[in-house]
Amino acid sequence: MNAPYDAVVVGAGFAGITAARDLVDRGRSVVILEAGSRIGGRTYARPFAGREDLRVELGGSWINRDLQPGIRREIERYGIALTEDAPPGSAAFLTDGILRSFPVPVGELGDLERAVGHLRDASKRIAPSQRLSSQPIRDLDVSVDEFIAPLDLGPATCDLLYATVAWYTGADPREVSMLGFIAQTAGFGHSPYGFFGALTERFVGGAGTLLDRMVDQSRLEIRLSHHVARIEQNVDGVTVRTCDGQSVQARSCVVAAPTNVLRRIDFAPGLSADKQKFLAENHQGRAYKPSMVVRNVPPRPFALGMGTLQAICLGYELTDGSCVLMGFGGEGAARLDPTDQGQVEAAVREYYPDAEVLAVDAHDWNADPLFDGTYRIDRPGQAYDFLRAMNEPEDRVVFAGTDLDDSVWRIWIEGAVNSGHRAADGVSVILGR
Ligand SMILES: Cc1cc2nc3c(=O)[nH]c(=O)nc-3n(C[C@H](O)[C@H](O)[C@H](O)COP(=O)(O)OP(=O)(O)OC[C@H]3O[C@@H](n4cnc5c(N)ncnc54)[C@H](O)[C@@H]3O)c2cc1C
Repeated sequence: MNAPYDAVVVGAGFAGITAARDLVDRGRSVVILEAGSRIGGRTYARPFAGREDLRVELGGSWINRDLQPGIRREIERYGIALTEDAPPGSAAFLTDGILRSFPVPVGELGDLERAVGHLRDASKRIAPSQRLSSQPIRDLDVSVDEFIAPLDLGPATCDLLYATVAWYTGADPREVSMLGFIAQTAGFGHSPYGFFGALTERFVGGAGTLLDRMVDQSRLEIRLSHHVARIEQNVDGVTVRTCDGQSVQARSCVVAAPTNVLRRIDFAPGLSADKQKFLAENHQGRAYKPSMVVRNVPPRPFALGMGTLQAICLGYELTDGSCVLMGFGGEGAARLDPTDQGQVEAAVREYYPDAEVLAVDAHDWNADPLFDGTYRIDRPGQAYDFLRAMNEPEDRVVFAGTDLDDSVWRIWIEGAVNSGHRAADGVSVILGR
């Protein structure tokens, strides 16, 4: 095979674009095939439906340059402008069925302290700078209930933990592995409070401003609306075929599509038995993130609890006294149509009884066939082995994407950038053989 490209990259999200850009930096010829009609994948900023004056981020948006070195380097390289959120001006908690201004009743303060200490201690077993799958932490790949069983926590403290896990995972907190949550705590400097206050920076104009700069400056070749259906490889190279019969040949391939959808790509020869098993099982991450224009809420609100939405925070304030709020919930934790104004208003009123929701907008990541869910959230016992299996190349094919990032920043933009670098390194080894 006389392949025209050194590498073909499948998927134009942060992982695929980082991998392609790194390879172009090293003098390699690369083409990116993207199934959708835009780049950016799970980062997606566009005008609020029916309100051209408002711009909302329907996917990934918050970052922290101090804690996330990968994204910091990109921001510095391309001179990207950021904005910093002001801290919340008020808080509401829905725990043990009661609406409160402090997360637990006074009688459970000791439980809260023990829960925080238990999580912090577990996180200290994880070195944030090292690959997760190289650390002896398999025993942390357990359910939330198993993790907290020795603590005998009161109901409000349990709900606080469940709500934080549900907010982070977009899943039923009783069905997910604690490994990612504990690793995330390590990423926050071993501080469980990081979930509430660490990610406060956002891109002016959306995360796409950075991606556009990466694509433009490296003149990356991207073919939109190229939905990859089959990846064939032999000793000479890789042939990638799209659903509509087009094909591209290259000496190597980076598969940077969400792991949720990899089971719909036909690999020849087939993937390892481990990969096939994990991809067939799929996972629990099915979050929704409604953006909503709201009146009659306290200034800069923040809400957390086991409500229909497990968290609500400020998007930005508007000049007429209303504001744009972001809601977070998981399909597995409570059912909600994030585009139904009445349902969303009822969910917001669980925290703010006087709130008036004037408009809602959301992208349904779970129904979108290019994503089929939000980010990879494993069941207990799945997380550790998944990382090992998916980070193994299949001869000339390597895998990338936040879902399989082997770091404490898995599932975030930072994780996508990390795994893009790693995939470029993997391809460089293949091309150098
Ligand atoms: C609602 C929501 C909120 C989030 N909030 C945050 C946040 O605040 N901060 C943060 O850091 N992260 C957040 N994230 C996570 C962050 O957006 C992701 O981690 C990151 O964008 C993933 O990048 P990726 O390149 O791994 O995958 P993606 O961005 O999903 O890119 C994969 C690409 O592959 C394409 N594709 C799929 N199938 C095929 C195929 N067969 N052929 C070709 N192309 C294909 C897709 O269209 C997509 O463009 C959020 C995500 C969601 C969904």
